[in-house]
Amino acid sequence: MKNLTLLLLGLGLFLNMGPSPRGNDFFQVITSHPHDLEQLSPHIETVYQNGRLWVVQLKVSAPKNILGHLRPLGGHEKSYLHLGQWISSKSQKMKRDPIKSLVAKVDQEEIRRDVEELASYRTRAAGTADNQLAVKAVAGRFSDMGYQVNEICYRPGACSIIAEKKGLTSGGEVLMIMGHIDSVGEDFAGADDNASGTAVLLEMARVIKDYSNKKTIRFFVTNGEELGLLGAKHYAKHLSDTNKIQELALVINMDMVGYNSNGIVELETNPKYEKLAQWFSDLAARYTTLKTKITLGAWGSDHVPFLEKNVPTLLTIEDWSTKTPCYHLACDTPDTLNYSYAAEIAKLNLSAVLSKDI
Ligand SMILES: [Zn+2]
Repeated sequence: MKNLTLLLLGLGLFLNMGPSPRGNDFFQVITSHPHDLEQLSPHIETVYQNGRLWVVQLKVSAPKNILGHLRPLGGHEKSYLHLGQWISSKSQKMKRDPIKSLVAKVDQEEIRRDVEELASYRTRAAGTADNQLAVKAVAGRFSDMGYQVNEICYRPGACSIIAEKKGLTSGGEVLMIMGHIDSVGEDFAGADDNASGTAVLLEMARVIKDYSNKKTIRFFVTNGEELGLLGAKHYAKHLSDTNKIQELALVINMDMVGYNSNGIVELETNPKYEKLAQWFSDLAARYTTLKTKITLGAWGSDHVPFLEKNVPTLLTIEDWSTKTPCYHLACDTPDTLNYSYAAEIAKLNLSAVLSKDI
C-alpha cells in the first residue's frame, strides 16, 4: 500500500512538473534562520512578500528536504496595513477612561533599564548558567511586585516562568501575555530578540500590580524559543493534558518589540482570528501612536503552539519588512533599540488585557 501511495505521489509530481517553477502550488516560508534561507533560496521564486508573509513557488530543482521550511498556502493568508478606528459611544466620552490612565503609566526608561540588565548577561542561550541566572532574576522581580511565581521546566535547567495575579471573580478565565527570555547566544546581545519582549512584560506587570483584575492575568516568560519553541510547546501541552487550555481567553506573544523605523507594529495570527487582530488595531488607534499591519498565517514564535490548540492568540512584533539588521547577530545590543516604540507596544497590549478584563 505504501509503495502504491509513493508511486501515485511520484506520478502526481511528474505530471505536475511544468517548466520552472513547479506546478501552481504556493508555499509560505516559515523559517527565518539564515542557514535555512540559504538552503531555500536557489529553489524558490518569490510571488509575494510583505511583513512576515512570504509566498513562494518551487522551482523544478527543489529537493524534498526543503519542504520542512515551507507550508502549503491555505488560501486565506494575507498581510495588509490596517487603519484602526475608535468609535466611542456618547457615554464612553463622558466617562473617564480607566484604561487610558493606566496605560499612561508605562515608562520607557523602565523598559530600557531592563533590556540593559538582560543584555548584561554574557549569554541567555537556553540552559546555560547565565540563562538560569537571568530566569532567577526575572522571577524575583515578579515576586517582588507581588505576583505568584512558579517555574515550569521543559527539561532540568531549562525553565520558563509563570507569574500571575488571580482574578477577583471566580470565572476562571485567564488572560496571558508572554515573551521569550532566551537568546541565540551571542555575547551580551539579544536585546531586541528578545530582552525587549521580556522587559515589556515586566513593565506591564509593574503598571498593573495594584490593579484589581476580575480575570486572572498571567505573565509567561518562555525559555528555549530559539531552540524550537520548546518552553511554549511544553506548557501548551501541559495545559492541554490537564484540561486547562480552555481557560485561556486571550494570549498575546511579544517577540522583538524594540527596533523600529516606521512606527508600524505587525499583528500576526491565523486567518480565523482576523477580527481579533482588527480589534487590536482599533485599540492601537485609541491608546497608542502605532500604525498596524495585520498578517494572517502564523509561524516561527511562541504563539504558534497556542494557536494550534485553538486559543485566540496574537503575536506583536516589529514590522518584519524593516526588522532589525542585527537579527540573531552580535550587534543586537540595547543601544540599537527605540524605547518609546517598545513603550507603545506595552500600551497596546495592556489596553487589550484591560479591555478584556472589564
Ligand atoms: Zn525571538
